[in-house]
Amino acid sequence: MSDCIFCKIANGEMETELLYKDEQVVAFKDINPQAAIHFLIIPVKHIPTIYDLEEEDNQLVGHMYQVAKKLAEEYNIAERGYRMVANCKDDGGQVVYHVHFHLLGGEKLGDLC
Ligand code: 5GP
Ligand code: ZN
Repeated sequence: MSDCIFCKIANGEMETELLYKDEQVVAFKDINPQAAIHFLIIPVKHIPTIYDLEEEDNQLVGHMYQVAKKLAEEYNIAERGYRMVANCKDDGGQVVYHVHFHLLGGEKLGDLC
């Protein structure tokens, strides 16, 4: 997707410091952090929303959770805990239509539900 900002970050067209990168996934800091730690974990492949995930993407989604674990360990939030959030479409508060997990932590987070 040529006009997708997260595709540009994933393929290096938009300079962003990457915290993690492999063939399937990249992670980087959110530009507008909502917690002491606020990273975004995204697939390299363009998928607009979590509603668009297919069975064949199950391994990818599992891998994204494993990347979150690695980052949590690296940034010392594994022990105290963290939150993974995926907003979906308008009512879910999604702004960027390329699947991403928000990895939030480093402080006590407010209750969501
Ligand atoms: P959403 O609301 O779609 O779940 O979250 C999109 C997130 O992407 C927001 O938290 C926003 O701050 C972040 N974001 C938007 N544009 C950029 C960007 O160009 N660079 C980075 N690092 N984060 C971005
Ligand atoms: Zn994209």
